Amino acid sequence: MNELLRWTGLRWTGLRWIGLLALTAMEGVSPDQESVGSGTKRSSASSGSRSRNCKEFLHRFVDSGMLTAQLEDWFESISSESEPKKPAFDVPFEMIELQKFDYALEGISFQQVIRMPNSVYASTSDAVEATAYLAIEDFLHAGAKGLWEAFWNQDGPMPFSVACLYNENLKFYQAEKAVADGKLGGLCATGLLLTNPRHPRGRWDHILELSLLRPDIRNFSMDSDGQLSLSVLGEALFYAIRVLLSRSLSRMNYSQSSNSVFILLVDSQYGGVVKVEGDVNKMVFDVNNVYECAAEWITNHSRIAVSSIDRIWNKLGNANWGDIGALQLLFATFHCIVQFAGFPKHSIEDLAADHGPRLQARRTERQLGNSRANGNGLYRFQQRSVSPEIVEVQDDSAKIETEQLMKLEVGSVLWLEDSNWQKGYHISQVLNNNEHPYYIASPVEEPQKNFFLYVGSHPSQLEPAWEDMNLWYQVQRQTKILTIMKQKGLSSKYLPQLSASGRIIHPGQCQKPSSGGNCDHPWCGTPILVTSPVGETVAHMISEARFGMEDAIRCCHDCLSALSTATSAGIRHGDIRPENVICVRSAEKQPYFVLIGWGRAILDDRDRPSMNLHFSSTYALQEGKLCSASDAESLVYMLYISCGGVLPDLDSVEGALQWRETYWSRRLIQQKLGEASTVLKAFADYVDSLCGTPYPMDYDIWLRRLRRNINEEDSGKEIDTSG
Ligand SMILES: [Zn+2]
Repeated sequence: MNELLRWTGLRWTGLRWIGLLALTAMEGVSPDQESVGSGTKRSSASSGSRSRNCKEFLHRFVDSGMLTAQLEDWFESISSESEPKKPAFDVPFEMIELQKFDYALEGISFQQVIRMPNSVYASTSDAVEATAYLAIEDFLHAGAKGLWEAFWNQDGPMPFSVACLYNENLKFYQAEKAVADGKLGGLCATGLLLTNPRHPRGRWDHILELSLLRPDIRNFSMDSDGQLSLSVLGEALFYAIRVLLSRSLSRMNYSQSSNSVFILLVDSQYGGVVKVEGDVNKMVFDVNNVYECAAEWITNHSRIAVSSIDRIWNKLGNANWGDIGALQLLFATFHCIVQFAGFPKHSIEDLAADHGPRLQARRTERQLGNSRANGNGLYRFQQRSVSPEIVEVQDDSAKIETEQLMKLEVGSVLWLEDSNWQKGYHISQVLNNNEHPYYIASPVEEPQKNFFLYVGSHPSQLEPAWEDMNLWYQVQRQTKILTIMKQKGLSSKYLPQLSASGRIIHPGQCQKPSSGGNCDHPWCGTPILVTSPVGETVAHMISEARFGMEDAIRCCHDCLSALSTATSAGIRHGDIRPENVICVRSAEKQPYFVLIGWGRAILDDRDRPSMNLHFSSTYALQEGKLCSASDAESLVYMLYISCGGVLPDLDSVEGALQWRETYWSRRLIQQKLGEASTVLKAFADYVDSLCGTPYPMDYDIWLRRLRRNINEEDSGKEIDTSG
């Protein structure tokens, strides 16, 4: 429950902040006025003297070199502890997060006017240094503005500004002004700050992030193992601590995540991010030993993450916004804005979801798309209906024959062709998911392997009935989704794998015209999809009362892990129900669950999730769309019936919504899940709090918690910890 409460608190703070910023913009009220601090979590009465100490501490904590000297032993020990050639610190961002963020930024145009002078061609004159500071300011400004407009989309101007830090008084000046005033030599950092007209020189508690411009950060600051050198890291830590201390003294109401701060390191070509996280209240404020105390805090109470140092500016001095170096800086900036403004109006997932259609549009433009597997089904059917190449099956007797012929039986061999290969599959089992038959089949050449095999409807059926649309989703649309997953490199043992797709090869001579289309054989052109792994559906397990409580926790974990992976590529499932989750068993490993049935997946706003009165999320029933927690909500309904909960007979959307309203408000779903496990109950609470909101699911926390519970129940057995 703690995580839940903490999260709720964070969300609340975030909302307060959006409101506050709006107020600031409207009335010119400063965010640091007394009234704003009234909601702060710090207890002001007891911490009076401590706060005075902290203030004095901060006043004396002014020399980064002295801190660096104190950190020598610590730095030496962590460097020697880490394996050679392996970084001593974690990275602040995982590659997959950056990839998703990159997709989300696709539609955003960042601009940068002032070019970064290139050190290779330029001498180290004052003019070059001045231009470099202007270019950094411009970069930070363009980055923050682009992010603010795309994600937060607030009316009015961006509430942040950029300025340079002057080391003599630790105050901020616009780079242009500082240069004009002859302060260039004393500039030591560039900050992104919350705009506050009452404090034109900036306030330390208004700093979102700081950027340190240091020469040759890549070549001279990294040692031979690719580690950041202590001199650069020590300086970054010094600024990070100052920012954290200033925040703790501030009257502003920070979100919980404000105990982390990002320091950007840049030179004229490269850049990277240092993230420092920790509770500065754990620092001993001995005002006579400020650097020792700070070093002690770094050693014992902080978490430090350091990114790789990568290229940002090209040789012309333009920022390559899509490069990993620039992406890391932008992603840090994104997190900093979240600290001050709360979660954005549009999530990264939302914006990244546009990547798929954009890619599709490009493929179509370049005629790369496979017209059979891609695109909208209705369009395809309409197109076929006017195509002169289609030989329509008009003879009624032939149609009856079609239906009979397409009933594949155990023992039949079905041949499949792609553009460049043919493969035979031996049907070993006929299954049914209440809609259509599908099959377990083995390749003729590899009889020990098993796959699911789905057969689509014959393409010449001109008036697609409802069942045929379902079949189209199951075969053609699912082929498209699994292909996209493959292209995006999504890999998870909890997701199905596309093994093969193509069209059936029918017996006899194929008479199809050379221009394409199909001959008049009733099987001609029928699409086939082959996936792995195979397993028993949860629906079947429930019907035979073989779905236990441990299964429920594992199933929740595995499905959530699949959703997390898919979400990272902007794909949502949209059709979670017991028929679409299978339990995979093998002799040597723990059984695990795989989320199948991706034909109804949501790639963008135009896609509609399936409507299922029992399993669709409330938002899907109301809006015909998914919110970020919708799949998780469907998962909860599935777990609810798996744990013995009974779904009522529902015959209308109104009835379905009414049932959801009643059951959630009385916490009957949580109660039922609580009988199986407390973590499932807590998960249901979390999902309930998130439903219908634009806030993203925190998959990591729940995967960790569920994993812990699986660990407890069958300790010693194999657990997949890959996520
Ligand atoms: Zn044919």
